[in-house]
Amino acid sequence: MIDLHLHTTASDGRSTPDALVREAARAGLTTMAVTDHDTVGAIAAVRAAAAPAGLTIIAGIEITAVERGRDVHILGYFIDEQDQALAEFLLAQRRDRRRRVDEIVGRLAALGMPVTLDLPPLAASAPPDALGGQRAVGRPLVAAALVESGHARDISDAFDRFLSPGRPAFVARQGAAPAVVIARIAATGGVASLAHPGKIGFDDQIPGWVGAGLAAIEVFHPDHADADRARYEAIADEFGLLVTGGSDYHGPGSGRSDALGRVTLPPEDFARLVSAVDRMRTA
Ligand code: AMP
Ligand code: ZN
Ligand code: FE
Ligand code: FE
Repeated sequence: MIDLHLHTTASDGRSTPDALVREAARAGLTTMAVTDHDTVGAIAAVRAAAAPAGLTIIAGIEITAVERGRDVHILGYFIDEQDQALAEFLLAQRRDRRRRVDEIVGRLAALGMPVTLDLPPLAASAPPDALGGQRAVGRPLVAAALVESGHARDISDAFDRFLSPGRPAFVARQGAAPAVVIARIAATGGVASLAHPGKIGFDDQIPGWVGAGLAAIEVFHPDHADADRARYEAIADEFGLLVTGGSDYHGPGSGRSDALGRVTLPPEDFARLVSAVDRMRTA
């Protein structure tokens, strides 16, 4: 079974690289891509843990781009996690994540809900296998603190009432447009895939993003209804895009754990992805 969308403690997942590999193996996965938000910090550790378990690992990432004040997630696969230009770009992304979380915490304090977060340092350079210097913070940390302090029932309640667009503690990300992120992934030899398009409502932008180098689209995702899946399969056909998919697993207690082993990528789609990468590499 193939799952190309998984998070670890390098971003907002609750599973360490070791735990993720154990959980994935238990769920029956055989091939998986680790796709943390704006960090490649977990890839080496996941790879090391996966080898004895017989799991195949694909180096991935989920980069947040910004379109008209809204987040657009772009997945990257078969990326070169040693790429220096990519590393610098991701560091800037993590700095803006930190800025956003700090502003959200300020807003919550003004709303009478002070929370204290234990945030990791933002080191400019850290060994590739140590998550410490390359951890990406995000709203789930704030959501967990709101649950902890009794201001929200659970993570999803915290997002619905405070942290989502239009809610009182929402703060927009600042950063590169999707076309720029897509081009950057392509520049490192990776395949860029539009993450969970059914959640973002920017279908009209897809042709332009294809022009910028978008090579794939995430069809299989837990937040996609059958109708979304059919629509994005048709869009993939129309634009000659590859198809990706996975569980968007964030570990036990994250509110995003139930799709592990249930939402997967069909082997035919994965085979097409691999042959496209092989063709790219030999061209
Ligand atoms: P951020 O990276 O700061 O933009 O936060 C987005 C992340 O928050 C997503 O990748 C999910 O992991 C998580 N998230 C967003 N909405 C929800 C929700 N309703 N319930 C649980 N987790 C959520
Ligand atoms: Zn996440
Ligand atoms: Fe996402
Ligand atoms: Fe994700």
